[in-house]
Amino acid sequence: MAKTTNLKVRLVGAGPGDPELITLKGLSAMKKADVILHDALVSKELLNHASPSCKLVNVGKRAGKHTLSQDEINRLIVFYATRYKNVARLKGGDPYVFGRGHEELDYIHKRGISVEIIPGISSAIAAPASVGIPLTKRGINESFWVITGTCSSGEMSNDIRLASQSGATVIILMGMNNLSQIVQNFYYSRGADEPVAIVQRATTAGQKSIRGTIGTIQQLVISNKISAPAVIIIGKVVNESSIHEVLKEDLIRHASI
Ligand code: SAH
Repeated sequence: MAKTTNLKVRLVGAGPGDPELITLKGLSAMKKADVILHDALVSKELLNHASPSCKLVNVGKRAGKHTLSQDEINRLIVFYATRYKNVARLKGGDPYVFGRGHEELDYIHKRGISVEIIPGISSAIAAPASVGIPLTKRGINESFWVITGTCSSGEMSNDIRLASQSGATVIILMGMNNLSQIVQNFYYSRGADEPVAIVQRATTAGQKSIRGTIGTIQQLVISNKISAPAVIIIGKVVNESSIHEVLKEDLIRHASI
């Protein structure tokens, strides 16, 4: 490995979406950055905290006509790190939770640049909390699994089959494309009545959520037009939510008062 210099890149977790859900350390890294390379899901309000002279580079998947490959992102980080003193790589949620953070760290580190990791609140934790679902509750579950719904091959992860056979709360990221397969697995292992919730764009102004069961969730996704980015939460804790949905009838009643 190359000898590290005083060049520094900070790999910062931006949190799940709400700009207030970044850490103080993450915010301070943003404020002192000369360049911030950020994902598409990082909010404009959060980027407003950057200094006026800071260069903002959107390397996200929705950046425009051309989607940058991971290799191009890695090279861009090094390009800026060798020209500017403080570079922040701002990533949605936590950089190490399905964020390819370690690939970036490896690439940068091998080129003699030191990297500091600043963790963030993952959507895996924030999405259930945003709808009042406890990840664990005494007497209900003893663990929670965070699994990707889509492997690099595009297939559903085999860990989902294994998790469905446990008593764990199962949190699935990137699962919307394989939802029918996921549902099928849980149907066999836990039955049609197993509670499920899906939270889209958790902690943002565009947050939408649905709650149902393995038997009803696919229909609910269609009727409520739920799509990615979303977190799927499966397990008995879903029924423990402290937030009760307002029934349509209630809304109508309120509207007519
Ligand atoms: N590092 C990120 C995850 C990146 S993978 C984290 O820790 O949150 C991208 C997936 O994360 C999305 O497909 C979706 O499943 C989930 N995700 C990220 N932000 C989300 C949000 N605000 N609401 C719902 N799901 C989100």
